[in-house]
Amino acid sequence: MQETENLQKKLTGWFEWFHRHPELSYEEYHTTEKIREILTQGGIRILPYELETGLVAIVEGEKPGPVQALRCDIDALPVKEETDLPYRSECPGKMHACGHDFHIAAGLGCAILLSGHKSELAGTVKLIFQPGEETSLGALKILETDVMEDVELIWGIHADPTNEVGTLGIREGYVAAAADRFVITVTGQGCHGAHPDDGIDPVPAAAAIVQGLWTVTARNINAFHPALISVTRMQAGQTWNVIPESAELEGTVRTMNREDRALFERRMREIAGGTAAAYGARASVEWLPGSPAVYNDERLAGKSMRVARECGFSVVPEESSMGGDDFSFYEERIPGCYIKIGTGKGPTIHQPAFRVDKRAILPAAEYLVRLLMSPSDPAGQS
Ligand SMILES: [Zn+2]
Ligand SMILES: [Zn+2]
Repeated sequence: MQETENLQKKLTGWFEWFHRHPELSYEEYHTTEKIREILTQGGIRILPYELETGLVAIVEGEKPGPVQALRCDIDALPVKEETDLPYRSECPGKMHACGHDFHIAAGLGCAILLSGHKSELAGTVKLIFQPGEETSLGALKILETDVMEDVELIWGIHADPTNEVGTLGIREGYVAAAADRFVITVTGQGCHGAHPDDGIDPVPAAAAIVQGLWTVTARNINAFHPALISVTRMQAGQTWNVIPESAELEGTVRTMNREDRALFERRMREIAGGTAAAYGARASVEWLPGSPAVYNDERLAGKSMRVARECGFSVVPEESSMGGDDFSFYEERIPGCYIKIGTGKGPTIHQPAFRVDKRAILPAAEYLVRLLMSPSDPAGQS
């Protein structure tokens, strides 16, 4: 009992420290040092990877078993905190507004508890404290090392301000979208605004391309598949009486499955090229792939729900999101499951008033330990 209280106090203290010291993607130097210090003091081994920020710790069980990984992301956001918390951000314009401070604290608690149970732990657990999740490419930094080579499955967690403490959101299947970016350049021929017949105006072509792109979700994608496009930037010209040479469109496409993702890219190229040609202009499409969709493996989702109930959590269906998470890059290699942990209902993530109920930390750490220590469910039984 005393031990639990002590751990709770430590985890809360660490969480508050991380909350007070948010660092942006790939700048998580102090955060990494603090994690390193806590793990080292706890006698937990850190793998010697030369990561600029972030680190990977390892707990080796004394019984044979699988190699599992737990991903905790560690970066903060360029958001100005607007809470009255006594431990609010001390770094102007930066805030842990996505709850990654909670992920760190829960991950540290999990590492410490696990290392106290090595004799009962079957297999190995790698704890990945990952940088740069908010860029949606931070996972690639970890994947550039060989840390994942022997890992057979991976767990991910995220703070969830739509649920109370004591509730976990889990389900199988797609839970977050692929987050791709595009830039379309429409090239015409500039001329005087009073003599459009002397040139080729790229503006109406760009406008028509936007209209055409919206039809992809309505006409090409299966109506039961979530998919969307947002054109978020449209730029052309410098002044009022000159028809510009070119126009640019930029935005994001979100899809849940692989085929739709490829279909969207293909249709975008066809619509942009064909529409521009119809206006006498040319279009080039730059498709910049981001993280793929996050998919919860059936067996892992089943197991995580079972263990959640055993631990006294109430389990609700996880809300799918058209947002992305680079956790999916790990899942391109191995099965994974991404679990939403209720941190008290309140403003949603990325908002200046977002906050985590600290009472969620210790139960989350204990749950993760139980999950990592539970034997795998036999095939088809989850
Ligand atoms: Zn975020
Ligand atoms: Zn996040």
